[in-house]
Amino acid sequence: MDRSYVPPVISGELGRTAPRVAEDRNFYARGPRAPSLFQIDGLPVSGLIEEFGSPLFVFSEYDIRAKAKRMREAFRSRYPKTSFAWSLKTNYLGAVCKILQSEGWIAEVVSQFEYEKARLTGFAGQDIVFNGPYKPHAALRAAIEDGALVQIDNWDEFSAIEELVAGQGKIVEVGLRVWLDAGIKPVWSKFGFALDNGEAGRAAARVLENPKLRLHTLHCHIGTYILSPDAYAVAAKKLLQLREELRHKYHHLVPCLNLGGGFPSHSLLHGYLGPVEQVVPPIEAFATAITDVLRALPPEEQPLLRLESGRYLVDEAGYLLSSVIAVKGVNRPVMTDGGLSARAYKERMILNEDSRIGYVIDAGINLLYTSAWYQFEILPARAIEAPPVPSRIYGSLCMAIDVIRDHVDLPALETGDVLAIHPVGAYNVTQWMQFIQYRPAVVLIGNDGRPDIIRARETLADVITPERIPKHLEP
Ligand SMILES: *Cc1c(COP(=O)(O)O)cnc(C)c1O
Repeated sequence: MDRSYVPPVISGELGRTAPRVAEDRNFYARGPRAPSLFQIDGLPVSGLIEEFGSPLFVFSEYDIRAKAKRMREAFRSRYPKTSFAWSLKTNYLGAVCKILQSEGWIAEVVSQFEYEKARLTGFAGQDIVFNGPYKPHAALRAAIEDGALVQIDNWDEFSAIEELVAGQGKIVEVGLRVWLDAGIKPVWSKFGFALDNGEAGRAAARVLENPKLRLHTLHCHIGTYILSPDAYAVAAKKLLQLREELRHKYHHLVPCLNLGGGFPSHSLLHGYLGPVEQVVPPIEAFATAITDVLRALPPEEQPLLRLESGRYLVDEAGYLLSSVIAVKGVNRPVMTDGGLSARAYKERMILNEDSRIGYVIDAGINLLYTSAWYQFEILPARAIEAPPVPSRIYGSLCMAIDVIRDHVDLPALETGDVLAIHPVGAYNVTQWMQFIQYRPAVVLIGNDGRPDIIRARETLADVITPERIPKHLEP
């Protein structure tokens, strides 16, 4: 027994004076196993990458249908007269639209392109609600001819519609987009006719006084990722009050109230602390807030309730799988004979702050436009027995701003590790940009558990086909 006594050491880890010390303590309390994601709907994440390449968007049909069912039940169990419209701009992949169509959703579009895509996907004219600040003349004409419901956004559009319907042999139903204060900041003053200064009332009067028009819907869309069910109750009450005023003056009870979209998914904005279940109210809370207002009316006065949901329905169904292609920097300085290792050097030297280990992955923010607002979960596709440490996820673009998560706790990863980024089903495969790389394939895992490509990986031809070289530049 010739062991020399080694005094206990209070390690710099737990006792350090960094501002994050409390957070760090908590994080070690989580134990050594970091959360990971092995499979999506029964299919191994690594197998999907092997079969379809990396990066890869993956959607779960099961999840989209589960959200649709839950939303339908949340509203219809409280208020049977509810109609659902799918916000195409959230994700207009044909397969995704068809799933929602088969669940009974009609289409909500905000541009000529979306209108044409909705028609091509199989939505009949009367199953399309047409929103947006810019509806080109040809699109308005097509929508009116097809029987779509145009929700008028501004006076100029109103004049164009009046001209178009003047020559029509039929009465055309329209909606009005109303702008109102439901307590939500920032204020989206860009859209619709203002309620509080009487503008919305004047627009409604102009519809009601036109024998070729019929006022079908009072609409408002108060924002996106709204965490307050009460805001919808406020909006519903304000729209009902306008409806009541119009009934008194014009003896017309507007048949439909459209409260837009905006219901949140289980995603967290930057700066919010989870767990997400404590931040985001369930869809039933929104359904209760809205339908309580409507159910207070006598049954014969209860309007059709219409909703235009996007984010809630599809965000969590979408994953981006991406592979680690390079490891940069280290979390803690690695002491070598010469002092700090080169890897720790850059940030320490310039910022005099803790450096983080950085991972470059093969997908960039051009595919994840929404990473500017939301902190996605980043889940390794294998179990890694190592404590999670502060890390940074860089994208694959040649741009300094290409950071997908600036700070996320991850166990030590290796080149080739696959990460699942989640939830990314809303607004990414519509807002993505083709910048220096091909946009990846999108796969849908069907309810039968089979993966199908629903959008092929782009090729050089996809990018250059619309290009033309002027004659004088040809050899
Ligand atoms: C984008 C949009 C929606 C859908 O919003 P979500 O927040 O995704 O539910 C609904 N209505 C209009 C008018 C929109 O522009």
